Amino acid sequence: MPMNRKDYPPDWKELRRQVLTRANNKCELCGKENYSLSDKGTTVILTVHHIDNQKSRRNLINLIALCNKCHLRLDLEQHIENARKTRLIKAGKDCCRFKSRDRYSSGLRPQVTIGK
Ligand SMILES: [Zn+2]
Repeated sequence: MPMNRKDYPPDWKELRRQVLTRANNKCELCGKENYSLSDKGTTVILTVHHIDNQKSRRNLINLIALCNKCHLRLDLEQHIENARKTRLIKAGKDCCRFKSRDRYSSGLRPQVTIGK
């Protein structure tokens, strides 16, 4: 997702640095190295993702280093889930009564499903 600077704490750069250091400057899902070339010849840029999507929770256990490709895949799942909830709300149903496809319920690290 595009970054809105006002949503991030003043020490965000330092937190980001700590996450990338912990990850050995590699995507924590696919292992691609920061600033390496992707399979398509584009530059891999690592971003830091909030695992629970709560930007106010900025402890390191809630942050993960992801390449742009993996980050986009995770956000796609979030967009699909948000669209599902919006459809339920528009249909007059309580979206919280329906089981959410909580992608993080099984553990700390998100699971990315390819070819879904
Ligand atoms: Zn990746």
